[in-house]
Amino acid sequence: MAMTGPTPCSSMSNHTKERVTMTKKRIRRSAHAQKETEFLRLKRTRLGLEDFESLKVIGRGAFGEVRLVQKKDTGHVYAMKILRKADMLEKEQVGHIRAERDILVEADSLWVVKMFYSFQDKLNLYLIMEFLPGGDMMTLLMKKDTLTEEETQFYIAETVLAIDSIHQLGFIHRDIKPDNLLLDSKGHVKLSDFGLCTGLKKAHRTEFYRNLNHSLPSDFTFQNMNSKRKAETWKRNRRQLAFSTVGTPDYIAPEVFMQTGYNKLCDWWSLGVIMYEMLIGYPPFCSETPQETYKKVMNWKETLTFPPEVPISDKAKDLILRFCCEWEHRIGASGVEEIKSNPFFEGVDWEHIRERPAAISIEIKSIDDTSNFDEFPESDILKPTVATSTHPETDYKNKDWVFINYTYKRFEGLTARGAIPSYMKAGK
Ligand code: ATP
Ligand code: MG
Repeated sequence: MAMTGPTPCSSMSNHTKERVTMTKKRIRRSAHAQKETEFLRLKRTRLGLEDFESLKVIGRGAFGEVRLVQKKDTGHVYAMKILRKADMLEKEQVGHIRAERDILVEADSLWVVKMFYSFQDKLNLYLIMEFLPGGDMMTLLMKKDTLTEEETQFYIAETVLAIDSIHQLGFIHRDIKPDNLLLDSKGHVKLSDFGLCTGLKKAHRTEFYRNLNHSLPSDFTFQNMNSKRKAETWKRNRRQLAFSTVGTPDYIAPEVFMQTGYNKLCDWWSLGVIMYEMLIGYPPFCSETPQETYKKVMNWKETLTFPPEVPISDKAKDLILRFCCEWEHRIGASGVEEIKSNPFFEGVDWEHIRERPAAISIEIKSIDDTSNFDEFPESDILKPTVATSTHPETDYKNKDWVFINYTYKRFEGLTARGAIPSYMKAGK
């Protein structure tokens, strides 16, 4: 290969150095060109619903559902989240969705569910993500009475790293809850669902609680249940709560409800609530109604107590109380190291935790194994005739511009260091 350009003859070593640099540059340039071609090719392949075969409904949310799908040409399986446009316009969820798209594109981390494609048609938005066959933490907690301290240490430690990874990208999750902790094929944690980063569910909005009827019957019966019955009642109502558009305030930090502002420390409060739930069997503020739960969260100084009949270690209790306290005094205020060095995490190999065996291993028989998910009935969401008759097209046709910037193609070649350059995003 002939070298071009100036060749200093003063010293051989300089000459060699320069040659190496130029060769490197050339390799880099050609690699870049190749990536560019790849990007353009990807950009041309306009994916649509017809490119995927739907295998099974694996989850349901307030605005749509999640299905296991298979890409017809490659045979790869993915999770496809389907969101009904009409529902989102009705409930003013669009801001959310854009937030979800943005964070998923931005976050290229082992700790966050990867998103590959997105597209839309007249009725729905579609997000194609990596399929996590281990199911979600909510489903795991509903199956088990409680987790052991060792298991709790593992899941909380991994979630600490996951939350820290999004904080480092400048995001605050604000909706950390067991339904949003997914498990991969080896049982390791990944964060999903950034749809609610902006927290627009009713349960997140202070107005929702403003006109509380103080004469509401208090949940006296609930308070008087022993912890075993509380756990049973909680688990019985839990899934319904996950599907509702109201949502649950159980995991939300008190300062998030207040007008005075909040910061990333609110995610550590939520983690404290999850840790309590893992060890005790139900979260600390659970009640019969979201309003009652809200009141308890706001009044946490009195309501955050530990049932004597469910013994837990002092280290665990101390850490929960370090997560669930005023944000000014909360653990993590001086950085994640403060959390990692808490005595509850003694023995955790923070560097290699994700490569080591998980606390509970997952059994997967095939790439499309859905045994870790609950059963969901087939739905009509992908049947245009049914959907059109319930949501006449004209209802939101004029508002389709709201979704314009939505479709993008992931271009993995350029994401090695995290963010996709903004010019790569669709609509730019
Ligand atoms: P909500 O906003 O009410 O929490 P949602 O509509 O945002 O619900 P998700 O929480 O994203 O929906 O997904 C619902 C459920 O689907 C999850 O709790 C999980 O069980 C399953 N699920 C979501 N994404 C994946 C995935 N990538 N792989 C496997 N399962 C998933
Ligand atoms: Mg969810």
